[in-house]
Amino acid sequence: MKHKNSIVSIEEAQKIILNSVKPLKHEIIPIMEASNRVLYEDIISKILLPPVDNSAMDGYALIADDTLGASKYNPVKLQIIGEIQAGGSAVGKQVLKGKAIRIMTGAPIPKGADSVIRFEDTEEKAGYVKIFTESARYNNYRIAGENIKKGDTVLHKGERLRSANIGIFASLNYNTVKVYKQPTVSIISTGNELADIGKNIKTGQIRNINAYTIYSEVKKYNGIPDYLGIAKDTLKDTKAIFLKALKSDVIISSGGVSTGKYDFIRDIYSDLNVEIFFERINIKPGRPFTFGKKDNKLIFGLPGNSVPTITSFIQFVRPALLSLMGAKRIKKPIVKAFLEEDIKSVNAHHLLRGFFTIKNDEFYVSTSGNQKPSVLRSMSDANCLIVIPENVIKAKTGEKVTIQLIDHDEI
Ligand code: AMP
Ligand code: MG
Repeated sequence: MKHKNSIVSIEEAQKIILNSVKPLKHEIIPIMEASNRVLYEDIISKILLPPVDNSAMDGYALIADDTLGASKYNPVKLQIIGEIQAGGSAVGKQVLKGKAIRIMTGAPIPKGADSVIRFEDTEEKAGYVKIFTESARYNNYRIAGENIKKGDTVLHKGERLRSANIGIFASLNYNTVKVYKQPTVSIISTGNELADIGKNIKTGQIRNINAYTIYSEVKKYNGIPDYLGIAKDTLKDTKAIFLKALKSDVIISSGGVSTGKYDFIRDIYSDLNVEIFFERINIKPGRPFTFGKKDNKLIFGLPGNSVPTITSFIQFVRPALLSLMGAKRIKKPIVKAFLEEDIKSVNAHHLLRGFFTIKNDEFYVSTSGNQKPSVLRSMSDANCLIVIPENVIKAKTGEKVTIQLIDHDEI
């Protein structure tokens, strides 16, 4: 136990968690399944792309100098000596002075030609073409290797793959790709007061929300979630469900982490010999938060209230999942925004649910409603978190504050 009963700052918590992560192994999957997965190896091109000089337009391959002085009223006339289609060959074809070859987009540029004039700037008649405009050298001309050179590292280990990256694999003739495995994640809810969706709800009971928000977040970050159900507030029930959860790479529970009479998560940890790194974070909302490890399994005890469950997931669990998958970029983007209302300080790192807008290229932000930790509605209406660090006494209307863009990709 490293920080038993100690309270850590948000930065310390993040550091401790990231230092505890050992990336998962890898697997080989079809590129069609690889979107959002994290690349396990550098991809070095063995080929040149495009492999040969080719045309960027449908038109005529010619010698640029032949078009000097050409205009609508004074066109240059060139003799057409052939045609090359996309997929065709330029072998044996050569453009000489005063000649042109009809060429399609993607077709190889024939010897002698140094530019292509598009059809729209020409008129063809009886074996000749009139050119109505001057052409610069390398006009509409794709140069071999301008896309990818042999030996280029085109993708790096640790990148989360996006559509354009998948396109690079296709262009380099890769059918499959080596990616980090996805973490398996067990999700546990705790509390006698919880009733799952569809179940009869008695007076004093509330719906189980956290299992579903956590499930959604785990999916979003490419983990493989398994919802194990609700543990009643007894040692026996909580232990039974945790024993099932130990099959996973990551265990996420919510609720039961405070020091209440019926909060059993910490007791379970000591029972199961979980190494606990910290039990509270100086953050609001979301102060009770445990992080521990058993073997290489990461065990997160999230707060019960439905808002800090999500906000703490974003700050602490999300980066851990991404690091398990080897991702190098794990930071949510932050920007400065003009505050549209006064915010009172709290003696903690304060995360407020906010809604930003952009006017005249500037960010503005206001709170998105009631900030009580149990009011999920304002989280549902939020598109960012307003970050007021621990040492800031008061943030006033018109001041610039940091906002975290929670719905945007990591940078
Ligand atoms: P606890 O830390 O267990 O005392 O929970 C704190 C608050 O969060 C209580 O009001 C709980 O009812 C609520 N809560 C705990 N778990 C959930 C859940 N899965 N869904 C919605 N609310 C919850
Ligand atoms: Mg509880």
